[in-house]
Amino acid sequence: MVYKYDFLIIGAGVAGMSYALKVARAHKGKICLICKTSLDEANTSFAQGGVASVTNLKLDTFDKHIADTIIAGDFISDRQAVEQVVRMAPSQIEELVQWGVNFDRKENGQFDLHREGGHSEFRILHHADDTGAEIQRGLMEAVRNCPDIDVKENHFAVEIITQHHLGVRVTRRSPNIKCYGAYVLAPKGVKGVKEGRVDTYLAKCTVMCTGGCGAVYMTTSNPVIATGDGVAMVHRAKGTIADMEFVQFHPTVLHNPNETHPAYLITEAMRGYGGVLKLPNGETFMEKYDERLSLAPRDIVARAIDKEMKIHGLDHVCLDVTHKDPAETKKHFPNIYQKCLSIGIDITTDYIPVRPAAHYMCGGIKVDLNGQTSIKGLYALGECSCTGLHGGNRLASNSLIEAVVYAETAARHSLEHVDLYDFNEQVPEWNDEGTMTNEEKVLITQSVKEVNQIMSNYVGIVRSDLRLHRAWDRLDMLYEETERLFKRVKASRDICELRNMINVGYLITRWALERKECRGLHYTTDYPHHAYDQGK
Ligand SMILES: Cc1cc2nc3c(=O)[nH]c(=O)nc-3n(C[C@H](O)[C@H](O)[C@H](O)COP(=O)(O)OP(=O)(O)OC[C@H]3O[C@@H](n4cnc5c(N)ncnc54)[C@H](O)[C@@H]3O)c2cc1C
Repeated sequence: MVYKYDFLIIGAGVAGMSYALKVARAHKGKICLICKTSLDEANTSFAQGGVASVTNLKLDTFDKHIADTIIAGDFISDRQAVEQVVRMAPSQIEELVQWGVNFDRKENGQFDLHREGGHSEFRILHHADDTGAEIQRGLMEAVRNCPDIDVKENHFAVEIITQHHLGVRVTRRSPNIKCYGAYVLAPKGVKGVKEGRVDTYLAKCTVMCTGGCGAVYMTTSNPVIATGDGVAMVHRAKGTIADMEFVQFHPTVLHNPNETHPAYLITEAMRGYGGVLKLPNGETFMEKYDERLSLAPRDIVARAIDKEMKIHGLDHVCLDVTHKDPAETKKHFPNIYQKCLSIGIDITTDYIPVRPAAHYMCGGIKVDLNGQTSIKGLYALGECSCTGLHGGNRLASNSLIEAVVYAETAARHSLEHVDLYDFNEQVPEWNDEGTMTNEEKVLITQSVKEVNQIMSNYVGIVRSDLRLHRAWDRLDMLYEETERLFKRVKASRDICELRNMINVGYLITRWALERKECRGLHYTTDYPHHAYDQGK
Protein backbone atom coordinates (compact mmCIF):
# COMPACT_ATOMS: atom_id res chain seq x y z
CA MET A 1 0.00 0.00 0.00
CA VAL A 2 1.10 3.56 -0.62
CA TYR A 3 -0.05 6.41 1.64
CA LYS A 4 0.55 10.11 1.12
CA TYR A 5 0.80 12.65 3.91
CA ASP A 6 2.10 16.21 3.95
CA PHE A 7 3.49 15.61 7.45
CA LEU A 8 4.59 12.16 8.63
CA ILE A 9 5.48 12.09 12.33
CA ILE A 10 7.30 9.01 13.60
CA GLY A 11 6.86 8.78 17.37
CA ALA A 12 4.14 9.93 19.74
CA GLY A 13 5.79 11.11 22.94
CA VAL A 14 5.91 14.75 24.01
CA ALA A 15 7.91 15.68 20.89
CA GLY A 16 5.75 13.98 18.25
CA MET A 17 2.38 14.91 19.74
CA SER A 18 3.34 18.57 20.37
CA TYR A 19 4.54 18.90 16.78
CA ALA A 20 1.36 17.24 15.43
CA LEU A 21 -0.90 19.60 17.38
CA LYS A 22 1.06 22.67 16.34
CA VAL A 23 0.99 21.76 12.65
CA ALA A 24 -2.68 20.78 12.80
CA ARG A 25 -3.58 24.30 13.95
CA ALA A 26 -2.61 25.62 10.51
CA HIS A 27 -4.93 23.20 8.58
CA LYS A 28 -2.27 22.97 5.89
CA GLY A 29 -2.23 19.38 4.74
CA LYS A 30 -2.68 15.81 5.91
CA ILE A 31 -0.92 14.71 9.10
CA CYS A 32 -0.08 11.17 10.15
CA LEU A 33 1.26 10.31 13.61
CA ILE A 34 2.60 6.78 14.02
CA CYS A 35 3.96 4.95 17.04
CA LYS A 36 5.30 1.45 17.35
CA THR A 37 3.09 0.25 20.22
CA SER A 38 0.23 2.01 22.00
CA LEU A 39 0.04 5.77 22.28
CA ASP A 40 0.74 5.76 26.01
CA GLU A 41 3.97 3.74 25.85
CA ALA A 42 6.72 6.34 25.62
CA ASN A 43 9.61 7.63 27.73
CA THR A 44 7.47 10.72 28.27
CA SER A 45 5.01 8.76 30.42
CA PHE A 46 7.83 7.83 32.83
CA ALA A 47 9.20 11.30 33.55
CA GLN A 48 8.85 12.02 37.24
CA GLY A 49 10.61 15.25 38.19
CA GLY A 50 9.12 17.90 35.97
CA VAL A 51 9.67 20.61 33.38
CA ALA A 52 12.23 23.40 33.77
CA SER A 53 11.10 26.91 32.84
CA VAL A 54 11.59 30.40 34.22
CA THR A 55 8.00 31.35 35.03
CA ASN A 56 8.51 33.97 37.73
CA LEU A 57 10.78 36.75 36.51
CA LYS A 58 10.72 38.42 39.95
CA LEU A 59 12.54 35.45 41.51
CA ASP A 60 14.43 33.95 38.59
CA THR A 61 16.08 35.04 35.34
CA PHE A 62 16.69 33.54 31.91
CA ASP A 63 20.41 34.21 32.38
CA LYS A 64 20.50 31.97 35.46
CA HIS A 65 18.74 29.11 33.66
CA ILE A 66 21.14 29.55 30.73
CA ALA A 67 24.19 29.49 33.03
CA ASP A 68 22.93 26.41 34.93
CA THR A 69 22.41 24.54 31.64
CA ILE A 70 25.86 25.41 30.32
CA ILE A 71 27.61 24.46 33.57
CA ALA A 72 25.76 21.10 33.70
CA GLY A 73 26.72 20.49 30.06
CA ASP A 74 30.40 20.86 30.97
CA PHE A 75 30.73 23.92 28.72
CA ILE A 76 30.12 22.20 25.41
CA SER A 77 26.45 23.10 24.98
CA ASP A 78 25.49 25.14 21.95
CA ARG A 79 24.83 28.63 23.33
CA GLN A 80 22.18 29.45 20.71
CA ALA A 81 20.25 26.25 21.42
CA VAL A 82 20.37 26.96 25.15
CA GLU A 83 19.14 30.55 24.65
CA GLN A 84 16.33 29.37 22.40
CA VAL A 85 15.05 26.70 24.80
CA VAL A 86 15.29 28.86 27.92
CA ARG A 87 13.70 31.97 26.39
CA MET A 88 10.89 30.13 24.58
CA ALA A 89 10.09 27.82 27.52
CA PRO A 90 7.45 29.99 29.25
CA SER A 91 5.30 30.39 26.12
CA GLN A 92 5.50 26.64 25.51
CA ILE A 93 4.38 25.92 29.07
CA GLU A 94 1.33 28.13 28.39
CA GLU A 95 0.57 26.08 25.31
CA LEU A 96 0.85 22.78 27.22
CA VAL A 97 -1.64 24.19 29.73
CA GLN A 98 -4.00 25.22 26.90
CA TRP A 99 -3.86 21.67 25.55
CA GLY A 100 -5.09 20.45 28.94
CA VAL A 101 -1.89 19.51 30.80
CA ASN A 102 -2.14 20.25 34.53
CA PHE A 103 0.77 21.47 36.64
CA ASP A 104 0.49 21.78 40.43
CA ARG A 105 -0.30 25.27 41.67
CA LYS A 106 -0.20 27.02 45.02
CA GLU A 107 -3.33 28.42 46.66
CA ASN A 108 -2.67 31.83 45.05
CA GLY A 109 -2.79 30.21 41.60
CA GLN A 110 0.94 30.49 40.90
CA PHE A 111 2.85 27.39 39.81
CA ASP A 112 4.21 25.33 42.69
CA LEU A 113 7.87 25.25 41.70
CA HIS A 114 10.44 22.64 42.75
CA ARG A 115 14.19 22.95 42.70
CA GLU A 116 16.42 20.13 41.45
CA GLY A 117 20.15 19.39 41.46
CA GLY A 118 22.10 21.85 39.27
CA HIS A 119 19.32 24.49 39.21
CA SER A 120 20.17 27.70 41.06
CA GLU A 121 16.49 28.61 41.50
CA PHE A 122 13.07 27.03 42.05
CA ARG A 123 11.87 26.60 38.44
CA ILE A 124 10.61 23.02 38.00
CA LEU A 125 6.93 22.78 37.14
CA HIS A 126 5.51 19.42 38.09
CA HIS A 127 2.38 17.36 38.52
CA ALA A 128 2.89 15.50 41.83
CA ASP A 129 5.67 12.97 41.00
CA ASP A 130 4.15 11.83 37.69
CA THR A 131 4.61 14.88 35.47
CA GLY A 132 5.41 12.84 32.36
CA ALA A 133 2.29 10.71 32.67
CA GLU A 134 0.19 13.89 33.00
CA ILE A 135 1.82 15.44 29.91
CA GLN A 136 1.30 12.25 27.91
CA ARG A 137 -2.34 12.05 29.08
CA GLY A 138 -3.08 15.68 28.21
CA LEU A 139 -1.46 15.45 24.78
CA MET A 140 -3.09 12.10 23.95
CA GLU A 141 -6.48 13.59 24.70
CA ALA A 142 -5.78 16.66 22.56
CA VAL A 143 -4.44 14.54 19.69
CA ARG A 144 -7.39 12.15 19.78
CA ASN A 145 -9.78 15.11 19.71
CA CYS A 146 -8.05 16.64 16.70
CA PRO A 147 -9.74 15.47 13.48
CA ASP A 148 -6.78 16.63 11.35
CA ILE A 149 -4.38 14.04 12.79
CA ASP A 150 -4.46 10.38 11.65
CA VAL A 151 -3.13 8.39 14.59
CA LYS A 152 -1.71 4.96 13.75
CA GLU A 153 -0.70 2.81 16.70
CA ASN A 154 1.39 -0.37 16.35
CA HIS A 155 2.99 0.92 13.15
CA PHE A 156 6.75 0.49 13.04
CA ALA A 157 8.98 2.69 10.87
CA VAL A 158 11.63 0.49 9.28
CA GLU A 159 13.63 2.95 7.16
CA ILE A 160 13.36 6.50 5.93
CA ILE A 161 13.22 6.81 2.14
CA THR A 162 15.92 8.75 0.27
CA GLN A 163 17.48 8.79 -3.21
CA HIS A 164 19.17 5.53 -2.15
CA HIS A 165 15.81 3.78 -2.72
CA LEU A 166 15.68 5.22 -6.26
CA GLY A 167 18.97 3.51 -7.06
CA VAL A 168 21.22 6.55 -6.52
CA ARG A 169 24.46 6.02 -4.60
CA VAL A 170 24.23 8.04 -1.39
CA THR A 171 27.26 8.53 0.87
CA ARG A 172 27.92 10.69 3.92
CA ARG A 173 29.51 13.22 1.55
CA SER A 174 26.50 13.42 -0.78
CA PRO A 175 25.51 17.10 -0.65
CA ASN A 176 21.79 16.99 -1.20
CA ILE A 177 20.20 13.97 0.47
CA LYS A 178 16.40 14.20 0.49
CA CYS A 179 13.82 12.37 2.56
CA TYR A 180 10.67 11.24 0.75
CA GLY A 181 8.92 9.56 3.70
CA ALA A 182 9.35 6.16 5.32
CA TYR A 183 8.72 2.45 4.94
CA VAL A 184 6.39 1.38 7.72
CA LEU A 185 5.55 -2.10 8.99
CA ALA A 186 1.77 -2.51 9.27
CA PRO A 187 0.36 -4.35 12.28
CA LYS A 188 -0.44 -7.97 11.55
CA GLY A 189 -4.10 -8.92 11.49
CA VAL A 190 -5.59 -5.45 10.95
CA LYS A 191 -7.73 -5.38 7.79
CA GLY A 192 -6.19 -8.64 6.57
CA VAL A 193 -2.57 -7.48 6.85
CA LYS A 194 -0.25 -10.50 6.64
CA GLU A 195 3.00 -10.87 8.57
CA GLY A 196 5.72 -8.48 7.49
CA ARG A 197 3.78 -6.15 5.19
CA VAL A 198 5.75 -2.97 4.75
CA ASP A 199 3.83 0.01 3.38
CA THR A 200 5.20 3.09 1.68
CA TYR A 201 4.41 6.41 3.37
CA LEU A 202 5.27 9.25 1.04
CA ALA A 203 5.63 12.55 2.85
CA LYS A 204 6.66 16.11 2.13
CA CYS A 205 7.94 16.61 5.67
CA THR A 206 9.05 13.65 7.80
CA VAL A 207 9.61 14.23 11.50
CA MET A 208 11.63 11.79 13.61
CA CYS A 209 10.44 11.74 17.24
CA THR A 210 11.43 8.22 18.27
CA GLY A 211 12.81 8.96 21.76
CA GLY A 212 15.78 7.46 23.58
CA CYS A 213 17.91 4.35 23.41
CA GLY A 214 18.26 3.11 27.01
CA ALA A 215 17.18 -0.38 25.94
CA VAL A 216 20.59 -1.02 24.37
CA TYR A 217 21.82 -1.48 27.96
CA MET A 218 21.10 -4.39 30.32
CA THR A 219 19.31 -2.18 32.83
CA THR A 220 17.53 1.06 32.00
CA SER A 221 14.91 3.39 33.40
CA ASN A 222 13.47 3.57 29.86
CA PRO A 223 10.65 1.37 28.59
CA VAL A 224 11.48 -1.52 26.26
CA ILE A 225 10.59 0.56 23.17
CA ALA A 226 13.65 2.81 23.67
CA THR A 227 15.82 1.07 21.08
CA GLY A 228 17.14 4.18 19.32
CA ASP A 229 15.29 3.44 16.06
CA GLY A 230 15.32 7.02 14.75
CA VAL A 231 19.03 7.54 15.30
CA ALA A 232 19.81 4.23 13.59
CA MET A 233 17.50 4.95 10.62
CA VAL A 234 19.02 8.38 10.05
CA HIS A 235 22.55 7.04 10.41
CA ARG A 236 21.84 4.34 7.82
CA ALA A 237 20.40 7.06 5.54
CA LYS A 238 23.76 8.89 5.91
CA GLY A 239 22.40 11.74 8.03
CA THR A 240 24.58 13.50 10.63
CA ILE A 241 24.65 12.13 14.19
CA ALA A 242 26.41 13.84 17.13
CA ASP A 243 27.46 13.51 20.80
CA MET A 244 26.59 9.83 21.17
CA GLU A 245 29.21 9.26 23.89
CA PHE A 246 27.11 11.21 26.39
CA VAL A 247 24.82 8.63 27.96
CA GLN A 248 23.36 9.64 31.31
CA PHE A 249 23.08 6.89 33.92
CA HIS A 250 20.77 7.15 36.90
CA PRO A 251 22.72 5.94 39.95
CA THR A 252 19.95 4.01 41.66
CA VAL A 253 17.24 1.84 40.18
CA LEU A 254 15.81 -1.15 42.02
CA HIS A 255 17.88 -4.24 41.23
CA ASN A 256 15.27 -6.78 40.17
CA PRO A 257 16.41 -9.14 37.40
CA ASN A 258 12.77 -9.55 36.27
CA GLU A 259 12.32 -5.84 35.71
CA THR A 260 15.07 -4.23 33.67
CA HIS A 261 13.26 -2.32 30.85
CA PRO A 262 12.13 -0.23 32.63
CA ALA A 263 13.79 -0.78 35.95
CA TYR A 264 12.03 0.95 38.85
CA LEU A 265 13.64 4.26 39.77
CA ILE A 266 14.70 4.79 43.41
CA THR A 267 14.60 8.56 43.65
CA GLU A 268 17.67 10.52 44.67
CA ALA A 269 15.50 12.09 47.36
CA MET A 270 16.02 8.88 49.30
CA ARG A 271 19.70 9.68 49.73
CA GLY A 272 18.71 13.23 50.64
CA TYR A 273 16.49 11.72 53.36
CA GLY A 274 19.48 9.93 54.88
CA GLY A 275 19.77 6.72 52.85
CA VAL A 276 23.33 5.33 52.95
CA LEU A 277 24.95 3.39 50.10
CA LYS A 278 26.55 0.13 51.28
CA LEU A 279 27.90 -3.14 49.97
CA PRO A 280 25.62 -6.14 50.61
CA ASN A 281 27.86 -7.05 53.61
CA GLY A 282 27.07 -3.70 55.24
CA GLU A 283 30.37 -1.90 54.50
CA THR A 284 30.09 1.70 53.33
CA PHE A 285 32.19 2.79 50.36
CA MET A 286 31.35 6.37 49.34
CA GLU A 287 34.09 7.73 51.65
CA LYS A 288 36.60 6.46 49.05
CA TYR A 289 35.07 8.65 46.34
CA ASP A 290 33.68 11.93 47.65
CA GLU A 291 33.51 13.81 50.92
CA ARG A 292 29.78 14.35 50.38
CA LEU A 293 29.42 10.55 50.70
CA SER A 294 26.03 9.25 49.51
CA LEU A 295 24.97 12.84 48.76
CA ALA A 296 27.59 13.33 46.05
CA PRO A 297 26.26 14.34 42.59
CA ARG A 298 24.59 11.77 40.36
CA ASP A 299 27.58 11.06 38.09
CA ILE A 300 30.04 10.55 40.95
CA VAL A 301 27.67 8.18 42.74
CA ALA A 302 26.97 6.23 39.54
CA ARG A 303 30.72 5.83 38.87
CA ALA A 304 31.43 4.81 42.48
CA ILE A 305 28.71 2.14 42.43
CA ASP A 306 29.93 0.88 39.06
CA LYS A 307 33.49 0.59 40.37
CA GLU A 308 32.46 -1.24 43.54
CA MET A 309 30.32 -3.66 41.53
CA LYS A 310 33.27 -4.39 39.24
CA ILE A 311 35.81 -4.75 42.10
CA HIS A 312 33.62 -7.15 44.08
CA GLY A 313 31.96 -8.91 41.13
CA LEU A 314 28.51 -7.81 42.32
CA ASP A 315 25.37 -7.18 40.30
CA HIS A 316 24.11 -4.56 42.78
CA VAL A 317 24.94 -2.55 45.89
CA CYS A 318 22.48 -1.51 48.59
CA LEU A 319 20.73 1.58 49.89
CA ASP A 320 20.11 1.47 53.63
CA VAL A 321 17.29 3.41 55.30
CA THR A 322 16.75 0.92 58.12
CA HIS A 323 18.20 3.41 60.65
CA LYS A 324 15.38 5.88 59.88
CA ASP A 325 12.01 5.98 61.66
CA PRO A 326 9.87 3.34 59.83
CA ALA A 327 6.73 5.48 59.99
CA GLU A 328 8.59 8.44 58.46
CA THR A 329 10.03 6.25 55.70
CA LYS A 330 6.59 4.91 54.80
CA LYS A 331 5.14 8.43 54.88
CA HIS A 332 7.82 9.97 52.64
CA PHE A 333 8.18 7.10 50.20
CA PRO A 334 4.86 5.23 50.07
CA ASN A 335 5.29 4.11 46.47
CA ILE A 336 8.86 2.85 46.90
CA TYR A 337 7.84 1.11 50.14
CA GLN A 338 4.96 -0.71 48.40
CA LYS A 339 7.00 -1.51 45.30
CA CYS A 340 9.82 -3.10 47.30
CA LEU A 341 7.32 -4.95 49.51
CA SER A 342 5.79 -6.45 46.37
CA ILE A 343 9.09 -8.25 45.73
CA GLY A 344 9.60 -9.25 49.35
CA ILE A 345 11.75 -6.34 50.57
CA ASP A 346 10.59 -4.36 53.61
CA ILE A 347 12.72 -1.22 53.31
CA THR A 348 12.23 -0.36 57.00
CA THR A 349 14.14 -3.53 57.97
CA ASP A 350 15.97 -4.65 54.78
CA TYR A 351 18.56 -3.04 52.51
CA ILE A 352 17.24 -1.92 49.09
CA PRO A 353 19.25 -3.58 46.29
CA VAL A 354 20.17 -0.86 43.78
CA ARG A 355 22.35 -0.39 40.72
CA PRO A 356 22.87 2.30 38.07
CA ALA A 357 20.83 2.22 34.86
CA ALA A 358 20.97 3.91 31.46
CA HIS A 359 18.63 6.88 31.67
CA TYR A 360 19.00 9.51 28.95
CA MET A 361 20.83 10.02 25.64
CA CYS A 362 22.21 13.56 25.23
CA GLY A 363 23.36 12.94 21.66
CA GLY A 364 21.42 11.89 18.59
CA ILE A 365 20.39 13.18 15.19
CA LYS A 366 22.10 16.54 14.72
CA VAL A 367 19.63 19.38 14.12
CA ASP A 368 19.72 23.14 13.68
CA LEU A 369 17.60 25.66 15.59
CA ASN A 370 14.54 24.68 13.50
CA GLY A 371 14.93 20.97 14.19
CA GLN A 372 16.14 20.39 10.61
CA THR A 373 18.52 17.46 10.12
CA SER A 374 21.27 17.27 7.50
CA ILE A 375 18.72 15.49 5.23
CA LYS A 376 16.28 17.77 3.37
CA GLY A 377 12.64 17.35 4.37
CA LEU A 378 13.60 15.49 7.56
CA TYR A 379 13.27 17.00 11.04
CA ALA A 380 14.18 15.40 14.37
CA LEU A 381 12.75 16.37 17.76
CA GLY A 382 12.93 15.23 21.39
CA GLU A 383 15.36 12.71 22.81
CA CYS A 384 16.37 11.22 19.44
CA SER A 385 17.70 14.62 18.36
CA CYS A 386 20.88 16.44 19.31
CA THR A 387 20.15 20.15 19.47
CA GLY A 388 23.30 20.99 21.42
CA LEU A 389 21.27 22.04 24.48
CA HIS A 390 22.68 19.36 26.79
CA GLY A 391 26.33 19.42 25.69
CA GLY A 392 28.17 16.82 27.79
CA ASN A 393 25.44 16.30 30.38
CA ARG A 394 21.73 17.04 30.78
CA LEU A 395 20.52 19.44 33.44
CA ALA A 396 17.57 17.84 35.26
CA SER A 397 14.13 18.52 33.73
CA ASN A 398 15.53 20.21 30.61
CA SER A 399 14.51 17.48 28.15
CA LEU A 400 10.71 17.69 28.13
CA ILE A 401 10.85 21.44 27.56
CA GLU A 402 13.48 21.05 24.82
CA ALA A 403 11.08 18.73 22.95
CA VAL A 404 8.20 21.24 23.06
CA VAL A 405 10.33 24.25 22.11
CA TYR A 406 11.82 22.48 19.09
CA ALA A 407 8.36 21.18 18.13
CA GLU A 408 7.38 24.87 17.88
CA THR A 409 10.33 25.99 15.75
CA ALA A 410 10.11 22.90 13.52
CA ALA A 411 6.36 23.37 13.07
CA ARG A 412 6.85 27.01 12.02
CA HIS A 413 9.69 26.10 9.65
CA SER A 414 7.97 23.12 8.06
CA LEU A 415 4.68 24.98 7.59
CA GLU A 416 6.60 27.71 5.75
CA HIS A 417 8.45 25.21 3.55
CA VAL A 418 6.04 22.33 2.98
CA ASP A 419 4.79 23.80 -0.31
CA LEU A 420 8.32 23.68 -1.71
CA TYR A 421 8.39 19.89 -1.43
CA ASP A 422 6.58 17.40 -3.67
CA PHE A 423 5.64 13.78 -3.18
CA ASN A 424 8.16 11.62 -4.97
CA GLU A 425 6.03 9.27 -7.07
CA GLN A 426 9.10 7.32 -8.28
CA VAL A 427 9.69 5.66 -4.91
CA PRO A 428 9.40 1.88 -5.30
CA GLU A 429 7.39 -0.23 -2.89
CA TRP A 430 9.27 -2.34 -0.30
CA ASN A 431 10.68 -5.44 -1.95
CA ASP A 432 10.81 -8.58 0.17
CA GLU A 433 10.66 -11.11 -2.63
CA GLY A 434 12.34 -14.38 -1.75
CA THR A 435 12.33 -13.72 2.02
CA MET A 436 10.66 -16.03 4.53
CA THR A 437 9.21 -15.81 7.99
CA ASN A 438 11.86 -16.13 10.67
CA GLU A 439 11.00 -19.33 12.53
CA GLU A 440 13.88 -19.07 14.98
CA LYS A 441 13.23 -16.20 17.34
CA VAL A 442 16.18 -17.31 19.46
CA LEU A 443 18.51 -15.87 16.81
CA ILE A 444 17.15 -12.46 17.74
CA THR A 445 16.54 -12.75 21.48
CA GLN A 446 20.05 -14.09 22.09
CA SER A 447 21.64 -11.29 20.05
CA VAL A 448 19.65 -8.65 21.96
CA LYS A 449 21.01 -10.08 25.22
CA GLU A 450 24.52 -9.93 23.79
CA VAL A 451 24.14 -6.28 22.74
CA ASN A 452 22.88 -5.46 26.25
CA GLN A 453 25.82 -7.22 27.88
CA ILE A 454 28.44 -5.74 25.57
CA MET A 455 27.14 -2.22 26.13
CA SER A 456 26.79 -2.54 29.91
CA ASN A 457 30.12 -4.24 30.47
CA TYR A 458 32.30 -2.36 27.98
CA VAL A 459 30.58 0.93 27.07
CA GLY A 460 28.94 1.79 30.39
CA ILE A 461 29.69 4.40 33.01
CA VAL A 462 33.46 3.90 33.16
CA ARG A 463 35.21 3.24 29.86
CA SER A 464 38.70 2.39 28.60
CA ASP A 465 40.10 1.96 25.10
CA LEU A 466 40.54 -1.77 25.72
CA ARG A 467 36.89 -2.25 26.67
CA LEU A 468 35.66 -0.02 23.84
CA HIS A 469 37.68 -1.90 21.20
CA ARG A 470 36.40 -5.19 22.55
CA ALA A 471 32.82 -3.86 22.29
CA TRP A 472 33.48 -2.68 18.74
CA ASP A 473 34.73 -6.13 17.65
CA ARG A 474 31.80 -7.95 19.26
CA LEU A 475 29.24 -5.53 17.81
CA ASP A 476 30.83 -5.91 14.40
CA MET A 477 30.27 -9.67 14.50
CA LEU A 478 26.65 -9.21 15.58
CA TYR A 479 26.18 -6.62 12.83
CA GLU A 480 27.35 -9.01 10.11
CA GLU A 481 25.17 -11.86 11.39
CA THR A 482 22.10 -9.67 11.76
CA GLU A 483 22.40 -8.02 8.35
CA ARG A 484 22.63 -11.49 6.77
CA LEU A 485 19.51 -12.58 8.66
CA PHE A 486 17.66 -9.34 7.80
CA LYS A 487 18.16 -9.99 4.09
CA ARG A 488 16.74 -13.51 4.39
CA VAL A 489 13.62 -12.95 6.50
CA LYS A 490 10.48 -10.82 6.34
CA ALA A 491 10.69 -7.55 8.23
CA SER A 492 9.44 -7.82 11.81
CA ARG A 493 9.61 -5.43 14.72
CA ASP A 494 12.08 -7.57 16.66
CA ILE A 495 14.70 -7.92 13.94
CA CYS A 496 14.42 -4.24 13.03
CA GLU A 497 14.91 -3.26 16.67
CA LEU A 498 17.92 -5.55 16.97
CA ARG A 499 19.51 -3.94 13.89
CA ASN A 500 18.85 -0.52 15.37
CA MET A 501 20.30 -1.45 18.76
CA ILE A 502 23.49 -2.77 17.17
CA ASN A 503 23.70 0.42 15.13
CA VAL A 504 23.23 2.67 18.15
CA GLY A 505 25.66 0.57 20.22
CA TYR A 506 28.23 1.06 17.49
CA LEU A 507 27.63 4.83 17.42
CA ILE A 508 28.03 5.18 21.20
CA THR A 509 31.22 3.11 21.07
CA ARG A 510 32.68 5.03 18.14
CA TRP A 511 31.98 8.42 19.67
CA ALA A 512 33.39 7.23 23.03
CA LEU A 513 36.60 6.11 21.32
CA GLU A 514 36.97 9.46 19.61
CA ARG A 515 36.76 11.55 22.79
CA LYS A 516 40.24 11.47 24.34
CA GLU A 517 39.34 13.16 27.63
CA CYS A 518 36.92 12.86 30.52
CA ARG A 519 34.15 15.30 29.74
CA GLY A 520 30.55 15.57 30.93
CA LEU A 521 29.12 12.06 31.14
CA HIS A 522 32.04 10.48 29.28
CA TYR A 523 34.56 8.98 31.70
CA THR A 524 37.56 6.99 30.50
CA THR A 525 40.44 5.65 32.56
CA ASP A 526 42.85 6.11 29.62
CA TYR A 527 42.40 9.88 29.38
CA PRO A 528 41.59 10.92 32.95
CA HIS A 529 41.92 14.66 32.32
CA HIS A 530 39.45 17.23 31.13
CA ALA A 531 40.68 18.92 27.94
CA TYR A 532 40.75 22.20 29.92
CA ASP A 533 43.30 20.66 32.34
CA GLN A 534 45.52 19.77 29.39
CA GLY A 535 45.46 23.37 28.20
CA LYS A 536 43.72 22.40 24.96
C1 LIG B 1 12.24 7.36 34.39
C2 LIG B 1 12.44 8.64 33.62
C3 LIG B 1 12.31 9.86 34.26
C4 LIG B 1 12.48 11.05 33.54
N1 LIG B 1 12.26 12.25 34.18
C5 LIG B 1 12.33 13.40 33.46
C6 LIG B 1 11.99 14.65 34.05
O1 LIG B 1 11.61 14.71 35.22
N2 LIG B 1 12.08 15.78 33.29
C7 LIG B 1 12.51 15.76 31.98
O2 LIG B 1 12.58 16.83 31.35
N3 LIG B 1 12.81 14.58 31.39
C8 LIG B 1 12.72 13.41 32.09
N4 LIG B 1 13.02 12.23 31.47
C9 LIG B 1 13.39 12.24 30.05
C10 LIG B 1 12.15 12.48 29.18
O3 LIG B 1 11.06 11.75 29.71
C11 LIG B 1 12.38 12.05 27.74
O4 LIG B 1 13.57 12.59 27.27
C12 LIG B 1 11.25 12.54 26.84
O5 LIG B 1 10.02 12.14 27.36
C13 LIG B 1 11.42 11.99 25.44
O6 LIG B 1 10.28 12.33 24.68
P1 LIG B 1 10.22 11.97 23.14
O7 LIG B 1 8.94 12.49 22.64
O8 LIG B 1 11.46 12.40 22.49
O9 LIG B 1 10.23 10.36 23.11
P2 LIG B 1 9.29 9.28 23.79
O10 LIG B 1 8.40 9.90 24.78
O11 LIG B 1 10.14 8.17 24.24
O12 LIG B 1 8.40 8.77 22.57
C14 LIG B 1 8.97 7.96 21.57
C15 LIG B 1 7.89 7.57 20.58
O13 LIG B 1 8.50 7.04 19.41
C16 LIG B 1 7.83 5.88 19.01
N5 LIG B 1 8.77 5.07 18.21
C17 LIG B 1 10.04 4.73 18.52
N6 LIG B 1 10.58 4.01 17.51
C18 LIG B 1 9.62 3.91 16.54
C19 LIG B 1 9.57 3.28 15.27
N7 LIG B 1 10.60 2.59 14.76
N8 LIG B 1 8.42 3.38 14.56
C20 LIG B 1 7.34 4.03 15.05
N9 LIG B 1 7.35 4.65 16.26
C21 LIG B 1 8.48 4.58 16.99
C22 LIG B 1 7.38 5.23 20.30
O14 LIG B 1 6.34 4.32 20.05
C23 LIG B 1 6.94 6.48 21.07
O15 LIG B 1 5.63 6.83 20.68
C24 LIG B 1 12.84 11.02 32.18
C25 LIG B 1 12.98 9.80 31.53
C26 LIG B 1 12.78 8.61 32.23
C27 LIG B 1 12.91 7.31 31.50
